[in-house]
Amino acid sequence: MKNSSKIKKAALTIQFIMLSLTILGQTTQTDISHLKIQQQTDHIFDSLVNLRRDLHRHPELTEQEERTSKKIAEYLKSLGVEVHTGIGGYGVVGILRTNKKGKRIAWRADIDALASNHPDAVSFPSENEGVRHICGHDVHTTIALGIANVLSRVKEDLSGTVYFIFQPAEENLKGAKAMIGDGLFDIINPEEIYALHIAPMPEGIVTTKANNLYADYRQIEIAFKNKTNKDALIDYIKELLLNLQNVALGGEFWDNRNLLDPNVGLGNPNTIFKDYITVSPNIEIIESDKEFFVKAYLSSEKHNQLDSILSEIKSTIKQSEFAGEFIKIEFHRETALVMNDENLTSLTMSALDRVYNNKQVLPLYGAIPDGRSDDFSFFQKKIPGVYYLLGASDFEKGIISMPHSPNFEVDENSIRTGVKYFSSLIIERLK
Ligand SMILES: [Zn+2]
Ligand SMILES: [Zn+2]
Repeated sequence: MKNSSKIKKAALTIQFIMLSLTILGQTTQTDISHLKIQQQTDHIFDSLVNLRRDLHRHPELTEQEERTSKKIAEYLKSLGVEVHTGIGGYGVVGILRTNKKGKRIAWRADIDALASNHPDAVSFPSENEGVRHICGHDVHTTIALGIANVLSRVKEDLSGTVYFIFQPAEENLKGAKAMIGDGLFDIINPEEIYALHIAPMPEGIVTTKANNLYADYRQIEIAFKNKTNKDALIDYIKELLLNLQNVALGGEFWDNRNLLDPNVGLGNPNTIFKDYITVSPNIEIIESDKEFFVKAYLSSEKHNQLDSILSEIKSTIKQSEFAGEFIKIEFHRETALVMNDENLTSLTMSALDRVYNNKQVLPLYGAIPDGRSDDFSFFQKKIPGVYYLLGASDFEKGIISMPHSPNFEVDENSIRTGVKYFSSLIIERLK
């Protein structure tokens, strides 16, 4: 090969590299920040694990989250984030402002633990007797602080504002309302809100669906005048209620393990956890001198179905021989049904899928049937948002992250996954 052609070839190669870099620059310019947050997450991962273990060793019951709240505020201050404390009890808010105007996105984490006397299997067990983090809120708190950390490092690349809401008292479903009632939305003004919960899928899996993730689960109360042949009436009403159930008793629907089954579980479009109505078998009868009450728990996969069922029950009773004894039927208390915004669910799921492209972002079908809820729903009533489930199980190691189960454990790599994915989600939404 002659020198001149060598030079020509070298020049062409350089030109090609430059062109490739330009194209790469154009297509991935927006992804540089994702790369940065991924590197930063790996960099702080060990310190996040230590933080989580500290929270795990010092769990605090609902409405008593004093130490946890203090730790959160200290961590946020160390990042240079604006901090507000004592909101709705031990609630903390962090505000990360960039230097550019833009969208306002909120991330919420719940921080309380719950009562459990079951021994803690990990090497860093709870030091507060009878209290344990068996709902994963120590991990939720750590992930939120991790997100605040990595986003504050890439602040120069971002525009807009990120709010971090650390909510106490999730377990009694009072904390979100308490924070809202205490002026949360006078301090922050988010356009969208997001959160996650640890779930028993394998670590690395992130999943959600539009609308409700959990069954609409509510207690109904029917009041009748007290009468002499009330035994017949009780039999009638029990039969009426139990006949509403459209799931075979003792069938595969009732085995919790089937929730994750590839053929019938929530990840399959033909899941058996769809189109169901269930009625709790223990129907309660409460008598007083003049009236008696029938109480039962109903649940439905469809979030808008129970209201129509209530009016159906009412009209059936009114057409029955017991119409004269009927007083009223109502739902006993307000529900906390997580309702994901359809548009934001689809936008954020496809954004995560695009950035991570690893088949770990999976849609769910149907709804989880056991009456779980999260008062994140009260924030969603004010602001559109999405609640994600983050897998944290490692079945081979015997780590099963089923919230509230006495053996609840977490694969701590879920902290890394959570910080990366949801920092990316926020970056994408700030654009
Ligand atoms: Zn819980
Ligand atoms: Zn929880």
